[in-house]
Amino acid sequence: MRKKIVAANWKMNLTLAEGKNLVDGILAGLPALSDARRVVIASPFTAIAQTVAQLQGKPYIYPGAQNCYAENAGAYTGEVSALMLKDAGVQYVILGHSERREYFKEDSALLAKKVNQGLSNGLQVIFCCGEPLEIRDAGTQNAHVEQQIKEGLFHLDAAQLTNIVIAYEPIWAIGTGRTATSAQAQEIHAHIRQVIAKQYGADAADNMSILYGGSCKPSNAAELFACPDVDGGLIGGAALKSDEFLGIINAMVGQ
Ligand code: PEP
Repeated sequence: MRKKIVAANWKMNLTLAEGKNLVDGILAGLPALSDARRVVIASPFTAIAQTVAQLQGKPYIYPGAQNCYAENAGAYTGEVSALMLKDAGVQYVILGHSERREYFKEDSALLAKKVNQGLSNGLQVIFCCGEPLEIRDAGTQNAHVEQQIKEGLFHLDAAQLTNIVIAYEPIWAIGTGRTATSAQAQEIHAHIRQVIAKQYGADAADNMSILYGGSCKPSNAAELFACPDVDGGLIGGAALKSDEFLGIINAMVGQ
C-alpha cells in the first residue's frame, strides 16, 4: 500500500542540544500516525544515537540518515556505511540529494552502489532526483529525472523496489523560497510514476511513495499533498522548527 511520508532533512544543522529540543517539540505536538502516515527524521550522523533514543517506542516516526557510503566497511576515512547506520538504529537513508550530487560530485554509478548498500542492510532508501533551473527553463525536466531514476534504480528487482521512496526535488526550489506549483509537482510526479510503471508494472508504480521537496512549508503543504501523485514531502528549512514541521505533518495526516 502506498504510504504518505513527511521526512525531515536537517542537513548540516543543529547541535545535540538543539536537536534534542527540536525532537522533543515534535513529539509533544505529534498527531496520531499510522503505517500509511509516517514521519522520518534524518539528522546529521552526530545526532543519530540521540534521535534514535528519543524516537524509541514512538510508533511510525523513524530515525533516518542523510547519506551512507557505497561499501560496508574498510579504509574509507570519514565515511559511514549503511551497516553502521542500521546498527545505530536508523531505518531510512536519503541518497542522491542534489547537494550531494553537486558539491560532492556523486554520480549515478556511485549512487546505484549506495542504494544497494542501503537495501542490503535493511534500510529504506529515499532516492532524490530533480532538475536544475536551466533544465526546467528548457522544458526537459521529465527526461532529466527519468534518466536519474533509470541510472540510480533500474538495476533493482521489483522486491527491492518496494523499499525505495522517491523524492522529487527541483533544485531551483530547494532553500530558495520558490516552491513548485502544485500543478508542476503533480505533472512531474505523475511522469515519475509512469516511468516506474513502464519498468516495473502498474502495481509497483501505484505502491511507490513519491515525495515533493523544495521550500515546502505549512502554508503550501496541504495543497501540494492533495495532488494525487504527491505522497508527502522531504523538508529542509521548515523541518528545523517544531511548529513548522508539525504544520507540515498535520497537512499530511489530514489528507
Ligand atoms: C531539501 O534540501 O531536501 C529541501 C527540500 O530543502 P528546503 O525544504 O529547505 O527547500
